[in-house]
Amino acid sequence: MLSPAGKPYDTLEEVIGIRESKGSLKEYGITYRQVDLLPGDKFDLEGIKNAINERTKLVTIQRSKGYQTRKSFSVKEIAELIKFLKDVKPRLKVMVDNCYGEFTDVCEPSEFGADMTVGSLIKNPGGGLAPIGGYIVGTKECIENIAYRLTSPGLGREVGASLDTLKSFYQGLFLSPTVSASALKGAIFAAGIYEKLGFKCVPGFKGERNDIIQAVTFGDPKKLIAFCEAIQAASPIDSFVNPEPWDMPGYDSQVIMAAGTFVSGASIELSADGPLREPYAAYFQGGITWPHVKIGILNTVQALKNKGLIDIK
Ligand SMILES: *Cc1c(COP(=O)(O)O)cnc(C)c1O
Repeated sequence: MLSPAGKPYDTLEEVIGIRESKGSLKEYGITYRQVDLLPGDKFDLEGIKNAINERTKLVTIQRSKGYQTRKSFSVKEIAELIKFLKDVKPRLKVMVDNCYGEFTDVCEPSEFGADMTVGSLIKNPGGGLAPIGGYIVGTKECIENIAYRLTSPGLGREVGASLDTLKSFYQGLFLSPTVSASALKGAIFAAGIYEKLGFKCVPGFKGERNDIIQAVTFGDPKKLIAFCEAIQAASPIDSFVNPEPWDMPGYDSQVIMAAGTFVSGASIELSADGPLREPYAAYFQGGITWPHVKIGILNTVQALKNKGLIDIK
């Protein structure tokens, strides 16, 4: 398994076995290599080519930045990378982790040769209604293989527990483009405000957007914590709760998470989090409705001002 875009999202490190853990892919004998990005977040094509050998079967490309301050890749960049990979080794299977990217562009990686495109239903494509789950879109061969592994050999897609969730899945998917648009608008608004306040934002206010995540680099744990507290305080659920940094499972440093959400863990709902490590960046995303994102962001600015952490004339 090869990651040509640097390290994947934190919780996947233990899934793959980059950090030792029980039940990892490593335990099943699956080995992993990664090729880090070049300066400017460019793919290291030479390095990628050299890393592909006769044992390389799967390439996994993560579209969004996760807890990194790199940019998120556009579908166009991913499409070009897929073409390059298939030229180097036509039989490679390419999987795109599309989390947070869905409906932020007019096309998706599945249209450009990705054998599998996967994502989470408690993010964009669940539209805020899906209570749990993920999706996998791909070639017939891959989907069949996955179905047999996921349910039972011989049964595949003929069976599987849906536990009364299907209506929410379909209704959520139906709403998802509009919900994602609200989240995107909110992210642009946040970047606009925080850039004016002098903080580095990724993407910038006018920057290209390929997912709904907005990173605001605070460079100071106090500001990061105050930001997350204020997002929590503006939430529809548990607004009275104060989030605190803690040693969450799956992460290698303390993490603070603000998520007063209807669906536990849903980051298509207004939410913010960040690891307590340099550069102390808050990763902010979601908001089912644009007015709610606006209220949330304005609340963070007020809280930072009240605490004397920012200067507003
Ligand atoms: C959230 C996320 C995941 C995991 O999705 P879950 O629904 O929480 O399992 C994987 N990869 C990336 C890039 C993510 O952002």
